[in-house]
Amino acid sequence: MFDLYIGIDDTDSKDGMCTTYICSVIIDELKYFGYNIKGYPRLIRLNPFARFKTRGNGALSFKLILKSEKDIEKVKKIVLKNVEELSELEDERTNPGVVFYRGEITEELKSYSLKAIRSIISIEDAQRFSDEIGAEYFKLKKGRGIIGALAAIGCPNNDKTYELIAYRMPENYGTPRKIDYDSVFQMNKLTYPDTFDNVDGENGYIAIEPHTPCPILYGIRGESPEAVENAGKIIKVNEPVEKIMVFETNQHTDMHLLKADKISNLEQFKCYIIEGSVQNFPFTREGGHVIFILEDDSGEIPCAAYEPTKEFRETVRKLAPGDKLRVFGGIGEKRTLNIEKIEILELVKIYETQNPLCECGKRMKSAGRGKGFKCIKCGVKLREEIKDTIEVKREIKEGFYEVPPSARRHLSKPLVRLKP
Ligand code: ATP
Repeated sequence: MFDLYIGIDDTDSKDGMCTTYICSVIIDELKYFGYNIKGYPRLIRLNPFARFKTRGNGALSFKLILKSEKDIEKVKKIVLKNVEELSELEDERTNPGVVFYRGEITEELKSYSLKAIRSIISIEDAQRFSDEIGAEYFKLKKGRGIIGALAAIGCPNNDKTYELIAYRMPENYGTPRKIDYDSVFQMNKLTYPDTFDNVDGENGYIAIEPHTPCPILYGIRGESPEAVENAGKIIKVNEPVEKIMVFETNQHTDMHLLKADKISNLEQFKCYIIEGSVQNFPFTREGGHVIFILEDDSGEIPCAAYEPTKEFRETVRKLAPGDKLRVFGGIGEKRTLNIEKIEILELVKIYETQNPLCECGKRMKSAGRGKGFKCIKCGVKLREEIKDTIEVKREIKEGFYEVPPSARRHLSKPLVRLKP
């Protein structure tokens, strides 16, 4: 008996299909021929800034326990046949890759995966590494998918979450989904925080429903297989469900974040936890994006709460120069740190100047340039030009603040999962 890991990626396009679905078809067919997978299939999210991603940069893997060498050939045939038949090969950007690996999940395999989650890997590097560890890869077209397929096999699982995915009948692909939204809110009410990020109450947004013509009807995220399965029983839909599958994932684990010790070390297309001070009062740019500069002794970087982060921008607007922050987020196309959450470590005191108070309790008015102040209530005059310095009450407190579920990155850990 031995373990065979199978990784699959880059099978879908913006117009359809989904690698999780292809994976589920393969698993069903393998089961039919008597091959059972060990544990849950894995849906692994990779670097959110990888250039060729279709949507959420997901890759899939699962593990089989096989008895003989003959089984390997049979399994390979089933896997490759389905990937070839079901992938969106006519789309130029779809370049499937499949990896078969027999062996242990070693530390070097784990660090390869972390590299795919935290930085950029070339097809050549993935091929070289596959050869080194004795994995076998299959490329369709450019075969870029082998980068993610191998990463999905080796991804560490010390922190994990689960997603239950319900699939539509093929004849309904591309039509509006018929999900009973009240049942989704009810599910959230009954199962949160064992399930999370499935609705965005404040924005009345249903996060379980995709907005693409893919085979997925809905996906429920949660802490355990039981949590997502129980939640799934509460969801009502008005269309037939083809099948349901539960995936183990690295979603909402913050696995993409690197700890950086200074701003000058930050690189584009990577995600970080970085500390610094706010340099300026945040301002709102065209399109509703809220921006401020974060600085430390080594340099500075613009940080953005983009328009889709909705009410989170209100928090960011309340920051002031000198506030000390820990920022969690990634550096994208525009070389701006795209904020996922912040921890306010220290709030500075801010002051404003006001005309002096009169003995009668009323604030005085200017008596004219260089003439001091006078009270319009009781007529008292003051010759000096000295104003009062008054501390302004800060509208925020120290602590964590996060973007709403509707704007959450797949990998970003919601505060409800941040355990001390
Ligand atoms: P979906 O979420 O709908 O499954 P997707 O967003 O996962 O789509 P893919 O179609 O899988 O997008 O395409 C992503 C491609 O980028 C794959 O070929 C994958 O191997 C590759 N890739 C993933 N991570 C990296 C990385 N860190 N560096 C370079 N390439 C990567």
